[in-house]
Amino acid sequence: MARNTGPSCRLCRREGIKLFLKGSRCNGDKCAVSRRTFAPGQHGQARKKESNYGTQLREKQKVKRIYGVLERQFRHYFKMAERSKGVTGVMLLQLLERRLDNVVFRMNFANSRAEARQIVQHGLVKVNGKRVDIPAYVVKAGQEVSIKMRKDAAQKKLAETFEDLKTRAIPKWLEVDAKNFKCKITAMPAKEDVGFPIQEQLIVELYSK
Ligand code: SF4
Repeated sequence: MARNTGPSCRLCRREGIKLFLKGSRCNGDKCAVSRRTFAPGQHGQARKKESNYGTQLREKQKVKRIYGVLERQFRHYFKMAERSKGVTGVMLLQLLERRLDNVVFRMNFANSRAEARQIVQHGLVKVNGKRVDIPAYVVKAGQEVSIKMRKDAAQKKLAETFEDLKTRAIPKWLEVDAKNFKCKITAMPAKEDVGFPIQEQLIVELYSK
């Protein structure tokens, strides 16, 4: 499955905010956004007036980068959101939050979404007892997600990750049973669960042109 393989920190610098793509490094002194507060590239420090289109484009790019989704798949989510009942922008965020890799990340068993994606791709995650190795799988309310590593040491490491991340809040729509490495999807995620300031209507405007 296609994904962005370039330097993650460059993406944060381009958007001008921390997107938390690298796990624990993001909270340390080495974070590139804290050290260099300008966009990457030759013209990164030039002062530019952003057009309406530019603002909308940046908002879309930011959301894509947070969830590690490329353009084609993002458009696919947008079309799904348009077809569903409810406000398109909010539905779009809800679909992205319900991705299986995001769920593993939100359960606090992975430092970053990229790490969560690997766990899923390695076939270590089950949904309602059935193995699912597709990170883009969209979970539904009432389903149960569980993680089982192949080796005991890896399972222990998973528990340690959960312990390390105990200060990171778990959203209310997930009921996590950390001892058994599983969670239940109790509701649909709300916009506030995204944890980033996102103006989703800008994305809707961009795609409605
Ligand atoms: Fe972004 Fe994390 Fe890199 Fe900071 S360390 S720039 S938050 S990926």
